[in-house]
Amino acid sequence: MTVSSADAEVDLAIYDEIEHLKRREDATILAHYYQDGAIQEIADITGDSLKLARAATGVNSKTIVFCGVHFMAETAKILNPEKRVLLPDTLAGCSLADGCPADRLARFQTELRNRGRRFDTVTYINSSADVKAISDWIVTSGNAIEIVRDRVPSDREILFVPDRHLGKYVEEATGRKLILWDGACVVHEVFSVSELLKTRRRLANSITIAHPECPVNIREQADFVGGTEAMLKYVDLIEQPAEILVATEANMLWRLQNNVPRHRYHPVPGVTCACNTCPHMARNTLEKVRDCLRTGGPEIGWRDAFDRAAAVLRRSLLG
Ligand code: SF4
Repeated sequence: MTVSSADAEVDLAIYDEIEHLKRREDATILAHYYQDGAIQEIADITGDSLKLARAATGVNSKTIVFCGVHFMAETAKILNPEKRVLLPDTLAGCSLADGCPADRLARFQTELRNRGRRFDTVTYINSSADVKAISDWIVTSGNAIEIVRDRVPSDREILFVPDRHLGKYVEEATGRKLILWDGACVVHEVFSVSELLKTRRRLANSITIAHPECPVNIREQADFVGGTEAMLKYVDLIEQPAEILVATEANMLWRLQNNVPRHRYHPVPGVTCACNTCPHMARNTLEKVRDCLRTGGPEIGWRDAFDRAAAVLRRSLLG
């Protein structure tokens, strides 16, 4: 299969132009693993949410171009108030972040407190700054288990938002009972177990890896469950070339193929098709990366909620 979306026809001059603009604007390009391969190729740093959030704090340039979705660029700004953070397309949202508006979360927290519940709110990084600001902890798929197991006091209940599938996974892994917000990722929720089983029948001795944002029926079929950074480490440990079925956003296959090319990677099919791409990530294009460097916008501006969100992010991810 072709895993490189960079194979698509691209005007090569745009790469030179982006390089030139990057130097002119003193910019560093960060790209999430769910971005098109062509964008990952021009990035200075690629990673999952945790790696990129940490990397953003070590960037020396004046400008960060964040190729990802809105909450990620916001996080980079929150951790780097003095830097200019550009997002190629401000409409690049996230179904998880959109499914948990801060006012609804605040109402639910109040209801719980009025019922005498004592809890910490543990929030997946896929959320707005306003939601982060009313949370106690921010987690990524890479550190959620560790934070829930080791850092949230054992005498507190846990309200986990916004991803019920990741929450369920953390609940199973830590043995702590969580109050789960009813949110899900539009990409990870649509994998089909029956299609997965059919593909496995065709590919003898294949290995299945799944992201913890997948529902439990997909996770149960997986040989390995982990975030994208953990997936890269896992496949690198498999010495013999293997057929690997991947249940996460389709552009991750490009990164896997690039980093560990001895294996063959196959997307786990969805219920309607095999193209499990995130429509929000797909809004960013090379042209929009070039244009935001040309014009200096769209830029993530500072908002009041960022101050409180910064404290929660720092103690959760950088502490
Ligand atoms: S893949 Fe899912 S969780 Fe990730 S940005 Fe897209 S909608 Fe959000």
